[in-house]
Amino acid sequence: MRIRAQRVAAFGTTIFAEINQLARQHGAVNLGQGAPDFDAPLPVLEAAIQAVRSQLNQYAPNIGLPQAREAIAEHAERFYGQRVSPEQVLITAGATEAMFAAILGLSDPEDEIIVFQPVYDSYVPNMRMAGVRPRYVNLYAPDWSFDPDELAAAFTPRTKAIIINTPHNPTGKCYLRRELEIIAELCLRHDVIAITDEVYEHILYDQTQHTRLATLDGMAERTLTISSLGKTFSATGWKVGWAIGAPELVESVNRAHQFITYSVATPLQAAAATALKLPDAYFEALRAEFQRKRDWLLGMLRKAGFRTFVPQGGYFIMADWRDVAPAHVQNDVQFAEWLIREVGVACIPPSAFYRAEDKHCAAHLARFAICKRDETLQAAAERLTALRTNSN
Ligand code: PMP
Ligand code: GLN
Repeated sequence: MRIRAQRVAAFGTTIFAEINQLARQHGAVNLGQGAPDFDAPLPVLEAAIQAVRSQLNQYAPNIGLPQAREAIAEHAERFYGQRVSPEQVLITAGATEAMFAAILGLSDPEDEIIVFQPVYDSYVPNMRMAGVRPRYVNLYAPDWSFDPDELAAAFTPRTKAIIINTPHNPTGKCYLRRELEIIAELCLRHDVIAITDEVYEHILYDQTQHTRLATLDGMAERTLTISSLGKTFSATGWKVGWAIGAPELVESVNRAHQFITYSVATPLQAAAATALKLPDAYFEALRAEFQRKRDWLLGMLRKAGFRTFVPQGGYFIMADWRDVAPAHVQNDVQFAEWLIREVGVACIPPSAFYRAEDKHCAAHLARFAICKRDETLQAAAERLTALRTNSN
């Protein structure tokens, strides 16, 4: 009997699961997967407990709990001046489900969706499952900008949508307003939908501002904005996300969502309402804390001999390892394995974010997670700096 469906036959195990397992096996300090090793803020935890105790334990409405949808709409206006009604908000099982439901609800088999490479690892498998074809446009180091002509050339009569992830995983790029204007202009010209993944919207460095594509002229009616609680509230395991957009966009996404999960953990949606209404001081403190950790990890990686790219947002630092590893290490996957086994620190090989023929673009790179306690970063530092001393 042929057990496995063709649809999933080509999928491997996700790189995050693979690296976690290897890290556990070798007792490595894990700067791989983007999951905080510190807890969510107490008021948010208490709101979830309170919700469980208040009989909020049955199915939520399919589109989401009213107070959570209101809080999401309010948050959009507070931070971006984006005016949406709660009816324009759909709650999903994390940004991951929002993206899959969006692809299923908005595109047909043989349609094309444009993605920027490196590309977050779930988007293209989502498209494959939907029968949709990816079109790739590269982001180029050191600032991970794209070539506007290459982007323009990726639009065809079959293009249904473009996905933009900002702040970007794995590079930390935050799309500039000028770049988003180029994207918007192409979307308008070719009548294409934009789907944005903004899960790192509050993790920003230096003076960086997050620009929401949906707020650019003409884009409100054709942009689906996706985000989630996980990063902003250090609760990646809660898997509460959302999609915001014009009524027909959201209704189309919900037609898929209603038959994937139907609705999402009710008490955690109630806690989401509390979380999103936290005062500005919470968001400012989060930003300051991440700034401190990013600066510290950048300094440490440089001291250990890496050449680093400076992220403007998000959970990660990309670094060039070629001055650090012994000669037998030939690519990023070998580097990640060597670092786990021989040094005891885990990172993610960023070639996982490239299609097969472009994996060489990331062969000299490693992705390190910033979202860790100071003790964890310190433990990684001790191992990495010993590396430098030993090789001298
Ligand atoms: N999008 C990006 C760019 C991510 O890095 C991640 C994972 N951290 C997700 C989506 C997943 O978000 P969620 O856990 O809300 O599904
Ligand atoms: N987004 C997280 C990362 O890039 C991982 C999420 C997952 O394991 N699917 O590290």
